[in-house]
Amino acid sequence: MKAVLDHVGIAVQDLDEALAFYRDALGLEVEAPEEVATEGVRAHVLPMGSSAIELLEATRPDSPIARFLARRGAGLHHITLRVDDIAAALEQLRARGARLIDAEARPGAGGALVAFVHPSAAHGVLVELKQPARPASALVPKRLSWGDVELVSVHDGLFGLDGGAMFGVVPRALWEAQAPPDERNRILLAMRPLVVDASWGRLIIDCGAGDKMPARQRDIYALDRRRHLDHALADVGLAAEAIDLVLPTHLHWDHFGGATTRRDGALEPRFRRARYLVRAAEWHDATHTHDRNRASYLPDDFLPLQEAGVVDYFEEDRVVRPNVRVVRTGGHTGQHQIVLIESKGRTAAFVADLIPTTAHIRDAWVMGYDLFPMETLAFKQRFIREAIEGEYLIFFEHDPLVAAGYIRERDGRRYVDAVL
Ligand SMILES: [Zn+2]
Repeated sequence: MKAVLDHVGIAVQDLDEALAFYRDALGLEVEAPEEVATEGVRAHVLPMGSSAIELLEATRPDSPIARFLARRGAGLHHITLRVDDIAAALEQLRARGARLIDAEARPGAGGALVAFVHPSAAHGVLVELKQPARPASALVPKRLSWGDVELVSVHDGLFGLDGGAMFGVVPRALWEAQAPPDERNRILLAMRPLVVDASWGRLIIDCGAGDKMPARQRDIYALDRRRHLDHALADVGLAAEAIDLVLPTHLHWDHFGGATTRRDGALEPRFRRARYLVRAAEWHDATHTHDRNRASYLPDDFLPLQEAGVVDYFEEDRVVRPNVRVVRTGGHTGQHQIVLIESKGRTAAFVADLIPTTAHIRDAWVMGYDLFPMETLAFKQRFIREAIEGEYLIFFEHDPLVAAGYIRERDGRRYVDAVL
């Protein structure tokens, strides 16, 4: 079990006196109070890096905090530990004979799951376990009519990458509020391919990580495919067999791992009826790796396609199907491309790793993973300007919460107006 300190809860008799110490004397910042009516408690949170102190004030004489204060006086009330899998944590404690207050996890604030461990098991301290809310609700596939075609936002689950690498030269002090890292410094990311459903057929842009990753890598990348692309396609009445064309933005595993699958021990195309349309120079780079990009290009993701004879190559930027155009950006990889879906005067843009999450809409927030960051920066500066002026609907492939939205600017500040 991996656990990190979420917060320390301190029961206070007199809030003003407590604030005189924690806020005024120590100089800590206090957030607006959160009231939990059912528990008869008001919590004043003082954030401290990735954890916090909570000053707990009773709002009712019969509340658990009031009873604690009457019995023990002011002082340490509980510590809360954040765990990834609360059911497994409770099971492990039960197996060790630890006395639990809650046999099962129950819903806590903000969509989290919580459970209390009895103080007798923890040497006199009440311990709360907390599994933070997963943005599972944000992974619901959605269909959107876009002129002559339909756009279907799907997903292949969640994963995590090092926060520092995701934000390049931006210091953690700036990015951690946008993307809180876990105890291994990973930030939560989604994989969101996009299906273009049109009269000429169905095209999928990128296809997630797929199911071939070995356990060690699954652990490193916190790969969570409990709900994955097959589920997402089924939710919108589709299946892998319904896809005619697979169009990768580049061949990294988190974008193209889902292109192949293992059946009876052999690697085969995942989309059995589909052709795979790949930029020739990207294929060349993926098959001629160097020390900097070798971990991202996994031969099992693309070589079996060539053996099956299902790959079509192209050289230049072009319209690949009516309303669907690819544009090379370079930057992330030498041949990384974005996909524009243009219909009836409107443009939707699948920007892949040019702007992986909504946090990356700032020009200089460029990934450390990028092979040519200055190329990313130059393309991004030009493109975002164009996207704001042209009201492009942007699909954020890796954002855990927002599938698509409009980039807008007000008083010199950029923000995303989320649509999906
Ligand atoms: Zn990526």
